[in-house]
Amino acid sequence: MTAIGSVAIIGSGVAGLAAGIQLAKAGVKVDLYEAKPEISALGSGISLQGNALRVFDALGVWEDIRDAGYIFEGLNLRAPGPGAPIVASLPDVKSGGPDYPAAMGMPRANLTRILLDHAERAGVHVHFGAKVTGLEQQADSVELVLESGSAGVFDLVIGADGLNSTVRGLIGIDTKPVPNGMGIWRTFVSRPAEVERSELYYGGPVFIAGYTPTGEDSMYAFLVEKAQDRTGLDDAAASQIMIDESRAYGGPWNAIRADLEQGAHANYTWFTSHLVPAPWNRGRVVIIGDAAHSCPPTIAQGAAQGLEDAFVLTEFLVKADALDDAFWDAFHARRIPRVQAVVEASSQLAQWQLDGNRDADAGGLIFGIAQKMALPA
Ligand SMILES: Cc1cc2nc3c(=O)[nH]c(=O)nc-3n(C[C@H](O)[C@H](O)[C@H](O)COP(=O)(O)OP(=O)(O)OC[C@H]3O[C@@H](n4cnc5c(N)ncnc54)[C@H](O)[C@@H]3O)c2cc1C
Repeated sequence: MTAIGSVAIIGSGVAGLAAGIQLAKAGVKVDLYEAKPEISALGSGISLQGNALRVFDALGVWEDIRDAGYIFEGLNLRAPGPGAPIVASLPDVKSGGPDYPAAMGMPRANLTRILLDHAERAGVHVHFGAKVTGLEQQADSVELVLESGSAGVFDLVIGADGLNSTVRGLIGIDTKPVPNGMGIWRTFVSRPAEVERSELYYGGPVFIAGYTPTGEDSMYAFLVEKAQDRTGLDDAAASQIMIDESRAYGGPWNAIRADLEQGAHANYTWFTSHLVPAPWNRGRVVIIGDAAHSCPPTIAQGAAQGLEDAFVLTEFLVKADALDDAFWDAFHARRIPRVQAVVEASSQLAQWQLDGNRDADAGGLIFGIAQKMALPA
């Protein structure tokens, strides 16, 4: 018998939707509140590693995810220059264990659509255009307040409301994402046939240039630069920066530049990192996903860690008799050391780039983390 009958989840990102699916399947009444009026049909792509795929399988969504993206093994490193020679092909690191591919890429919009479909089919009541502004905790319940007024009273509130989490602030946690000094340009383009896995270019005018296939006809490409104020640029100016900064890279970058010249959209954001120390809950309100932690995407683990948070929390919830200190201690003991390892490794890789340290053992660091992730979340 579970200790909770009703849950409000804030945020329709991967963490919120994954939590909703598992709770609704277990018979819990779930209401999910999302500030945006609808899910975004736009956006770039995402790399999902084996440990994320293992969570999708446990949620019953893996087959749909698998069919909507591009599965690949290994990672190529290429050098700048006209021929973009492949200088190393790194072997598979199966962070989800032997039953799942090492990684896949997919358009973010497909991922959200699939998770939302499964959540609604499982019985999650999804409320779009519902911005959370307040919380009132009682001994055994929480009242949730939206811009439009009270949303009702719940046994538990899960704040999966991302980097700039409102819920985090409402429960008095002041740890926040801190920019790490890097910014990333991303664009969603067509996939040249020769791109069959993620490829990274170190060296040249930016810290990292790269791309990841997301489907037969699509991939996302990115350039990581020193963080700059890139606000106020129109679409053409943004695309032109990607064209100019990528000129040092040949091979598939020629096709990427051609797509940018044809109007492929370029977007820009800064890297951040943070990790909220235990506890992630205050009473019956808890934060997970980017609300609780973020890291530079140097090992592409941010969403995977949010998925694991959601899975472990809801697995505990459906078995719990009480939401007492022992419950929360067990949750934090499972999640925080693992997230901390990812945040530290991702940040260290980024810092090596910022410091221009070319002798660093990046491969060893990535391999070590992937081995850790292959153990259950
Ligand atoms: C450049 C970049 C590349 C990345 N690449 C990868 C990658 O390849 N692989 C990977 O695993 N991770 C990657 N990540 C990390 C990944 O994108 C995030 O960790 C993940 O998307 C966070 O999911 P989330 O569900 O925690 O939050 P979000 O996806 O941010 O969802 C939060 C939701 O909450 C809603 N919300 C916010 N406030 C309120 C409110 N007050 N009321 C109601 N709703 C609210 C928001 O509108 C939003 O929809 C990358 C990150 C960056 C910056």
